[in-house]
Amino acid sequence: MPYIINNSCIACGSCAVVCVHNAIDTGYNQTKDVSKGQEFGDPFIINNNCTGCGECLAVCWPGAIEEVRVNQIT
Ligand code: SF4
Ligand code: SF4
Repeated sequence: MPYIINNSCIACGSCAVVCVHNAIDTGYNQTKDVSKGQEFGDPFIINNNCTGCGECLAVCWPGAIEEVRVNQIT
């Protein structure tokens, strides 16, 4: 997948709304550590359905969606 979602994600869900390829999943860990002041959900996750269309980039105002460079894939 050409994009990943980093820890800047506030789980607003905007990217999942615009992704017509159903490539964005909510975070799976539902446990929140309130002692650390976490107010939002876990970062969303881009799955293998991602085509790289880039539509999600335009709506992610926290800048949490990053392009994955080839040399970063292990
Ligand atoms: S990746 Fe961006 S648009 Fe998607 S849920 Fe996280 S903050 Fe919202
Ligand atoms: S790049 Fe396109 S297909 Fe991939 S997660 Fe974003 S909107 Fe969905």
